Amino acid sequence: MTLTETDKLQTPVQYVKGVGPRLATTFERIGVKTVEDLLYYFPRRYEDRSRFKRIAQLADAEFATVSGRVVACDNLTAKTGRPITKVAIDDGSAKAFLIYFNQPFQKTIFQKMMGSEIVVYGEVERNKWGINITRAEWEELADEGEELHTNRIVPIYPLTEGLFQKTIRRILRNAVELYLPFVKGLLPPAIVAERKLMDVREAFRNIHFPETEWQGVEARRRLVFEELFILQLALALRKHTLQSGLPGISFKIEESILEEFHKILPFDLTGAQKRVIGEISGDMEIPHPMSRLLQGDVGSGKTMVAAAAVLTAARNGFQAALMAPTEILAEQHYSVMSRLLSKVGIEVDLLVGALNRKGKTQVKDRTAMGLNGLVVGTHALIQEGVEFKKLGLVIIDEQHRFGVLQRMELMSKGNCPDLLVMTATPIPRTLALTLYGDLDVSVIDEMPPGRKPVITHWKPKREASRVYGQVAQLVREGRQAYIVCPLVEESEKLQAKAAVDLAAHLQSDIFSDLKVEALHGQMASWEKDDIMERFREREIDVLVSTVVIEVGVDVPNATIMIIQDAERFGLSQLHQLRGRVGRGQEQSFCILLGDPKTMDGKRRLETMVRTTDGFDIAEEDLRLRGPGEFYGTRQSGLMSLRIANLAGDTRILDEARRDAFELAERDPLLEHPDHQALSERLHANYENLIWATVS
Ligand code: ADP
Ligand code: MG
Repeated sequence: MTLTETDKLQTPVQYVKGVGPRLATTFERIGVKTVEDLLYYFPRRYEDRSRFKRIAQLADAEFATVSGRVVACDNLTAKTGRPITKVAIDDGSAKAFLIYFNQPFQKTIFQKMMGSEIVVYGEVERNKWGINITRAEWEELADEGEELHTNRIVPIYPLTEGLFQKTIRRILRNAVELYLPFVKGLLPPAIVAERKLMDVREAFRNIHFPETEWQGVEARRRLVFEELFILQLALALRKHTLQSGLPGISFKIEESILEEFHKILPFDLTGAQKRVIGEISGDMEIPHPMSRLLQGDVGSGKTMVAAAAVLTAARNGFQAALMAPTEILAEQHYSVMSRLLSKVGIEVDLLVGALNRKGKTQVKDRTAMGLNGLVVGTHALIQEGVEFKKLGLVIIDEQHRFGVLQRMELMSKGNCPDLLVMTATPIPRTLALTLYGDLDVSVIDEMPPGRKPVITHWKPKREASRVYGQVAQLVREGRQAYIVCPLVEESEKLQAKAAVDLAAHLQSDIFSDLKVEALHGQMASWEKDDIMERFREREIDVLVSTVVIEVGVDVPNATIMIIQDAERFGLSQLHQLRGRVGRGQEQSFCILLGDPKTMDGKRRLETMVRTTDGFDIAEEDLRLRGPGEFYGTRQSGLMSLRIANLAGDTRILDEARRDAFELAERDPLLEHPDHQALSERLHANYENLIWATVS
């Protein structure tokens, strides 16, 4: 990311001293093709091999560096029959033996070193018979501390088959020596000075070969800062483009609108909902377009907040669009919104792919004529050539499935409409700033009153029938249950079959006196609708479902959920699923059935048992999966971070973000000569994101 003078740094890795065609192939396997890639191949950690010890002072079981003269070497056979090479070194205080198993060739090597000073790093074994050093790395004592593998802070690189620490260290030393002069930093000097950042070339040298641990830390800070700064600058400029020069709509916020809203609500708003509605109203009132992210855990009441914004738009004579990632969720929003808004005479329409042609045409006509106040839909909203009479508010229920570009496409159907993005899965703050750094953020951090946290248990699969027995009992007492069937990744068809089979089995063998139905993604949407409606009406007791119920479904009397083979689901997916229960006054339960085979699988289930806090779970998810996999952020094209760690670099992110937004404010066109390199980089990498026009 730092490198602008591309030619030299794009040199194929094969031409670096020490790399031949064979090693080049090995490097290619780990994504290292050019000198630039090589310089970005950072150590996983360091080992401090700089502090020398006297041999006489070595303690059992420590890792230590010593130097000494090679005084003897021999091949022996251990009692177990294993060949051993023993090499004696002496530093004047005592003798130590380097021990190598099954490597008789070592003798030849050490014989050549007889009488020379070497530096050794390894694990000490000390007992009454003497001092041994096992798994020793060593090299000849060099002049003026030129050692690479010992007598210094040594980088430990991630390896792959055919690549050894010593080899990669040697190659990187060559690369650093030869190519560092071609590395250019992108950060303006003012920021480098202000944040006391290391010079970029120093940073590259020190991240590989630090002289002190502090140097390694500072080198990393510099490179992380630059990486995050560029990303934040892209987002800051995007926000700037969105807001400057664009007129936006200035909605009138009148007390009467809020009063009207309170009248149609079946409950009082929570404090958090009120605060967030205030923030949104504030944005809608000022004359440039709102870009706001509404974050809140499942069930925190985001939909109500969105409804308030729709009402405000409608009372100002504008239409709103609400886009959801799945049909079930769109239908859910549609039913909640139309029930609520019809009370104040606002018409709501639904546009999903499954609608027949006549239905679609009807909705499109009504939308173009401005007969509805809200159109709810899936991405059909951007695919079906919908036109609005007067679109003023775009709401996206995002679930991480829409990219920035889709967001923009829907917005282009209005004249600089306001934008509200809702996410039901809490995102760790660092990641939110990275993915949505161009949006202002509102958080609903309070649940509606009377909610009891879902009690979660993890049971091994062999206890399944006992668990089902208990569930059957609760259902007979009037509750309803979801049973989520095992994740089948091969195909939707197989997944559907799994649900149907499981439902049939449960109906006949366990819940024979109850009504069981299956729900899956292969059903027509009227079928899904029908089943959900009957479940809501309590005509169905047990709903056996695939992950299609993951989002948005809201049936307060359903208080039990069993998730089969729970270890196969991701953490945030489990959290989303569990969010379907615990939506009413009654105590809810979630039972995870599973026998995880990996540590990560175990950690996921343990986390689910330990907490119901979505932010907590999201942080853990980020730790377990890393940001690349997290919520499919890879597709967003924003996440090619090479060094920053979103789970840990919070402070650096904050600083980089502050500086980036300030710079975007001061020099939005990046015209200052100090910003030239940044400008080139951003045009090369983020042109579409930043400068694509909105209308
Ligand atoms: P989210 O979209 O954040 O998952 P919803 O808006 O769907 O949450 O709300 C979840 C449930 O809580 C719904 O049944 C809704 O009617 C109810 N609800 C929302 N706000 C409140 C409130 N202030 N008091 C009581 N219940 C509420
Ligand atoms: Mg909702």
